[in-house]
Amino acid sequence: MNIAIIGAGLSGTNIYNLLKKDGNDVKLFEKARGSGGRCSTRYVNDKLIDHGTPYFHAKDKAFINFCEQKVKEDILVKKDNSYYPLKGMNKLCSSLLDKDDFYKNTKIVSCKNIDNKWHLSDENGISYHPFDKLIITIPTPQILDLNIELPFNIEEKLKTVTYESIATLLIYSYTFKNIMNQKLLNDSSFNKIVDNSLKYDYENFSSYVLHLNPTICKEKNLTNKDDIKEYIENKVYEILNLKLEDDFHIMPHFWKYANVTKSIDDKYIYDEKLSLGICGDFFKGDNLESSYLSSKRLYEEKLI
Ligand SMILES: Cc1cc2nc3c(=O)[nH]c(=O)nc-3n(C[C@H](O)[C@H](O)[C@H](O)COP(=O)(O)OP(=O)(O)OC[C@H]3O[C@@H](n4cnc5c(N)ncnc54)[C@H](O)[C@@H]3O)c2cc1C
Repeated sequence: MNIAIIGAGLSGTNIYNLLKKDGNDVKLFEKARGSGGRCSTRYVNDKLIDHGTPYFHAKDKAFINFCEQKVKEDILVKKDNSYYPLKGMNKLCSSLLDKDDFYKNTKIVSCKNIDNKWHLSDENGISYHPFDKLIITIPTPQILDLNIELPFNIEEKLKTVTYESIATLLIYSYTFKNIMNQKLLNDSSFNKIVDNSLKYDYENFSSYVLHLNPTICKEKNLTNKDDIKEYIENKVYEILNLKLEDDFHIMPHFWKYANVTKSIDDKYIYDEKLSLGICGDFFKGDNLESSYLSSKRLYEEKLI
C-alpha cells in the first residue's frame, strides 16, 4: 500500500514507523528542515538545546513501553519519574524514520482525492502521487488551511480544537552561568525555566529555555520575536539585576500552536470512504503522550 503522511512530529514519525514495519511504501512530508515538530532541538555547534518539549512524563502502559524501548536505544533516560533526552529530544522522532522516505522542507498545501487516490502538492507546485491512503498529523488550524475537501462533520470537529500560544527565550553561553535563582523560578511571569546544561552535563557551556506564562503572552500580545526578547530581558533584569545580553546569546521564539487547550473526545479520525486518517495530540489529550497514543490507535484499529 502507498501511504502519505503529513507532519514529522511524534504522531507522524510513530505512525510512519508502524506502517513501514508492515511493508507499506510510506512517504513522510515535513515543512521544517528536520523531524521533531514540537520536540525540537537546536544545534549550537556541537551542543544541543531542546527548544520545545524539554522532558516529559508517561502514564499509559503502551507509552511507557515505548519510552523504555527508547531508553534501551540510548535515546531517552529516565530520572525522577520523567523521561529526558540523551541526544536531543528530536531524536525521539528521527530514530523512528528512514531518511529515504523523508521529504523535509516540503510544505504540503493541497491534497486532492481523485478516483480514490490521493494527490499531494507542495508550496512550490511539486506534485506527489498517487497514494492509496493519506494520514494527516499536523495541528488543526494547519489542517484547515490545506486545500482539501473534508467532509462537513470532520471539518466541524477540527474547528472545536483550541490551542494556547507560548513564547520562549533560548539563551546560551560558552561559559558556565547559573540563572536558576529561586526569585526567577518563583516569578509568575514564567511557566518554567529549563536548565539544559544540567540535562547534558556540558562543561563550559550553559543554556536555558525560559517559558513565558501563556496568560502574560496573550495579555501583552507578545507574538513577534523582538517584543518577546525585550519583555523577557526586562523581566530578568527587574528580578535578578542581570543583563542577559551581556552574558548570553539570545534566541526568542513564538509557538503559535504550543499546547492544546480543548481536544476532541475521540482517539483519532478515520474516513473509510476517503482512506483518510487524522491523528495527533489534539485527540483525548494535549501532550506528547496523546500524540503517541492517537497515532498508535489509528494504526492498530484502522490500518493493519
Ligand atoms: C515549548 C513547548 C513545551 C512543551 N512541553 C511539553 C511537556 O513538557 N510535556 C509534554 O507532554 N508535551 C509538551 N509539549 C507538547 C508536545 O510537544 C506536543 O504535544 C507534541 O510534540 C505534538 O506532537 P505532534 O506530532 O502531534 O505534532 P507536532 O510536533 O506539532 O508535529 C506536526 C509537524 O507537522 C509539520 N507541518 C505542519 N504543517 C505542515 C504542512 N502543511 N506540510 C508539512 N508539514 C507540516 C510541523 O512542522 C510539525 O513538524 C510542549 C510543546 C511546546 C511547544
